[in-house]
Formats: sequence, structure tokens, C-alpha cells
Amino acid sequence: MSNFINNKSALGCVFNIQKFCIHDGPGIRDVVFVKGCPLSCRWCCNPESQNIFIELAYKEGKCIGVGECGRCLEICSADAIKISENEKQTIEIDRRLCLNCGNCAKVCPSAALNLMGKFISVREVVDSVCESNIFYRRSGGGITVSGGEPLLQAEFTYDLLKECHRLGISTAIETSGYALWGDVERVCKYVDLIFYDIKSLNSNKHSAFTGVPNELILENLLRISKSFPEIPIIVRTPVIPGFNHTEDDIRSIVEFISSINSLKQYELLNYHNFGEAKYRQLGREYLMAGIKPLDKEYFEELQNRYSIPG
Ligand code: SF4
Ligand code: SF4
Repeated sequence: MSNFINNKSALGCVFNIQKFCIHDGPGIRDVVFVKGCPLSCRWCCNPESQNIFIELAYKEGKCIGVGECGRCLEICSADAIKISENEKQTIEIDRRLCLNCGNCAKVCPSAALNLMGKFISVREVVDSVCESNIFYRRSGGGITVSGGEPLLQAEFTYDLLKECHRLGISTAIETSGYALWGDVERVCKYVDLIFYDIKSLNSNKHSAFTGVPNELILENLLRISKSFPEIPIIVRTPVIPGFNHTEDDIRSIVEFISSINSLKQYELLNYHNFGEAKYRQLGREYLMAGIKPLDKEYFEELQNRYSIPG
């Protein structure tokens, strides 16, 4: 257990801590997924990461029906739950009325209702990482803070990475780069590896598909490489049909990052729609409905031509 962190350490709103991961940095790692993102990428496969607050998710297939149960209906004081007009008499959540209090989730016997996210202290996360630290050390792994956007909860991310660093645990972040430079600079002091998304060099298109322009993201990447030349950067591009899937799109990104001396690797990630069901569970629309992943051969050709191995 760490004795260093004082009681004033920031709390983070986190939606998952995945242990023993092997794809988010070297070795075996704990990945901490914080909630909240300034972007709203249409293809996001973790919609539960987008809002910074704790929210209710509902899996209709698990509901045993109001005739058999109805406990959520009884306990909701916000009148946010209605009976569906289907044979099984499952429920519907009125998101305009729901307070995300979680009372219904506490009484739901079938786990159809769940709160996404919880507040957790830096100490709890560090203690959990320390439990597995022997595996991490042997494998060259450590901790990766992901999201959402870790820099949106900059205080928590800073405290967490600083403490891990003090304990000799290797640290990484996965960031969109859309953050105040002051926060980027503070956090970078305790980061050993950065995964940095560059989605498009076309700012108008970037705005249309992610909700924000790209200038700040590009500027922060250049500033990190100049101010922290010792931190290796892995740039990643999710390749999205209809957004950035052409050779011109990818080539322009490769040209931009070619000036970065600390670039360790460039990865292309293929679009998938695995997160679609989660949009329904959160009562949101999936804006990529019906869009198919890229042809496998075409994507592999892009990878062969433009990715830069580590
Ligand atoms: S989270 Fe609270 S307000 Fe929302 S449906 Fe459940 S009990 Fe009602
Ligand atoms: S408490 Fe759960 S199982 Fe019971 S009616 Fe509500 S959602 Fe369905």
C-alpha cells in the first residue's frame, strides 16, 4: 500500500479498470478508463466514456418484466420509468427525467439496470496496481490511463501518474490531445509513453465528425515533441469509412507526423461497430448505423503502406 498520497488527492470518475491488458503499451498493464471526453466521435465504441458524469444504462434483454418484478418502477421518485408496450412488459427510461441516481439499479434483480462509472481515489487505483505489480515489472508493463480523455480529469490523472512514477511503475496515457497546454505539460512530467490520436488534418471534417476542430490537437502534439523529446509517442489513426479512409487522408497525416523526432510508431486502427448496442443501453442514437467496416484487403494495403512499426 502507498503511504504517500494524502487525503486531498483528487477523486476520478472512472468507468472501468481493466487488469492484465496487453494492447495498451508494453508488457502487462492495468488500464484505467476515465469518464468524460471533449470530443464526440461518431464512431466512438465506448459511448459510456463520453459524459463526465455517472449515468444509467439499461439492457432490455435482461429485464424480466414488470409483471414479474417492477421494483424499479416503485423506487423511482423522478417518474422516469414507464412500462413498455411489449408482450414481456419491459421498461423504458425517460432520459429527460432520469437523475442518474442509481436507486433502480440497486433493486434490479437481473442487472438490467446499471450505473456506468464510479468515483475512485488515486490511492485505490494505486493499491490495485501494486497488487499486480510483480507481473507488470517482469513484463515491462505498468499503468495506462485511457478514456474518455484522461486530460479532462487532469488533476486526477496528474496525481495518479505522479504517484505511480514515484513507485517506479511505468506510466502511459491514451489521449485525443484536445486539452489545455498547461494540463498537458503537467501530466507529461510523469508519463513514460504517449498514445496520441490524429484523426484528420482537415479541420472542417474533423469538426463535423468529432465535434471539435483539430488545430489545438496538432499544436499540442508538436509542443509535446519539442518540450518532452524524451517521451516516445505512438500516433494512432482510427480509419473511418466516409471520414478519413482515403489514401490522401492518411498520407497527409503521415506527412505531418514525419517531423516529430520522438515518434516511436504510427498505427492505423480499423473501424468496427462493436459499441453499437451500448448506445441503445444509454438511450442514445448511433450515428454510424449501417456503415460497414472497410474492406479487409483495402485496410491491410493502407497499413502496409503507411503504418510505421515500433
Ligand atoms: S437512475 Fe434514479 S431517476 Fe433514473 S430511472 Fe433510476 S431511479 Fe429513476
Ligand atoms: S427492476 Fe430490473 S428486472 Fe425488474 S422490471 Fe426493472 S429493469 Fe426489469
